Amino acid sequence: MKELEQKVLKDGKVLPGGVLKVDSFLNHQIDPQILMAMANELKRLYDGYGINKVMTVEASGIAIAVFAAYVFNCRAVFAKKSKTSNISDDVYSAEVRSFTHGNTNTVVCSKEYLCKGDKVLIVDDFLAHGEALRGLISICEQAGAEVVGCGIAIEKVFQGGGNELREKGIRVESLCKIASMSDTSLEIC
Ligand code: 5GP
Repeated sequence: MKELEQKVLKDGKVLPGGVLKVDSFLNHQIDPQILMAMANELKRLYDGYGINKVMTVEASGIAIAVFAAYVFNCRAVFAKKSKTSNISDDVYSAEVRSFTHGNTNTVVCSKEYLCKGDKVLIVDDFLAHGEALRGLISICEQAGAEVVGCGIAIEKVFQGGGNELREKGIRVESLCKIASMSDTSLEIC
């Protein structure tokens, strides 16, 4: 998606460890115009598949999920990072290693908000090694919900997660794909 690629090239800041900072429009300050354009692009890509739920994990996927759910005319649900180790029977849960923080969180989703037969679009801001998506896919499997596909704002292709998921037959659509990053350059696919 040209508009997003241009924004990443203009405003993205490369940090050590293969991290890209896009705080000016996605991760701290939020630009609703680009988020609506992204949601419309996801609608174009996934139109006609009967998506009735958009899912993400807190916190940075939530804004994208809400805009996407608006254009798909359905609900957005986000998995929460559980604060306790006592996981109740009322939730589906998965372990997710955080790319940016290096720790592992148990993420949970209430059984009330994800049901057997739901057709789910999973969205997130970044795709690196694929840990977050794997956790969300596991939660959908536990619920008996169908993952129609994933919609990602920025995929760092060189970190491999996206292609691993595609090889497993999961549809992954990324609106901006980064081929490589270094301290001095950022190359879009
Ligand atoms: P993965 O689970 O695919 O390894 O990493 C994706 C998750 O880590 C996303 O939910 C995102 O919040 C975070 N993340 C991964 N890479 C980056 C990055 O370069 N910049 C930012 N801001 N977040 C990232």
